[in-house]
Amino acid sequence: MMDVAANWERVRQRVAEAARKVGRDPHAVRIIAVSKTKPVELIEQAIRAGATDIGENYVQEAVAKIPRITAPVTWHMIGHLQRNKAARAVELFNVIHTLDSVALGEALARQGEQRGQAVRVLLEVNTGGEATKHGVRAEDVEDLLAALADRRWLSIDGLMTIPPPAESAAAARPHFRGLRQLRDQLQRHAPANAPLRELSMGMSDDFTVAIEEGATLVRIGRAIFGERT
Ligand SMILES: *Cc1c(COP(=O)(O)O)cnc(C)c1O
Repeated sequence: MMDVAANWERVRQRVAEAARKVGRDPHAVRIIAVSKTKPVELIEQAIRAGATDIGENYVQEAVAKIPRITAPVTWHMIGHLQRNKAARAVELFNVIHTLDSVALGEALARQGEQRGQAVRVLLEVNTGGEATKHGVRAEDVEDLLAALADRRWLSIDGLMTIPPPAESAAAARPHFRGLRQLRDQLQRHAPANAPLRELSMGMSDDFTVAIEEGATLVRIGRAIFGERT
């Protein structure tokens, strides 16, 4: 039988250990419990265990789940977002991790303006350069930032990556390190609407490596909620 509270506690301890190993404050890393395909009851168990940040991948699924959770958690949209779902996404989520085009950025900024509140986003970077993946290529991130620089209803809080699937967590390390170096480099000339504080990287199989490389947000599904069927 799956015990979400015990899983949460184990993950929390591993996060803290990985942070301490490299001299980081464990509180500088937030755990996003990724609940795609999982029922609201399990999300509530995670919240009772201490989760404050929950991630979902699909607007459609989130519409059915998020309104049923009354606890004040931060909702993260971590799946690919279509422009025609921008309004819905902004209503449901507090942070959108998957901004990867000027057009989507403009759509989200318009929603922010209508609501009178800047939309918090991360830029999804395709660090592996895979042709099939969403996300902007590392070499194009600077142009995307520049194109969205005057959108004050967009707060570009950081970068996110999903490395190519790999046999080992070690294989993901260069992607995590690359994302952090890219962030550090961009931060020197970043526009006023792009504080770039956050690095969203690391999932169930590689989050300790991501934390060693500077992750501030780890997105963890299976290690908390069990395998997806
Ligand atoms: C599903 C998903 C996760 C969680 O993956 P696990 O391997 O279950 O930890 C993290 N990030 C994204 C973008 C996902 O789609």
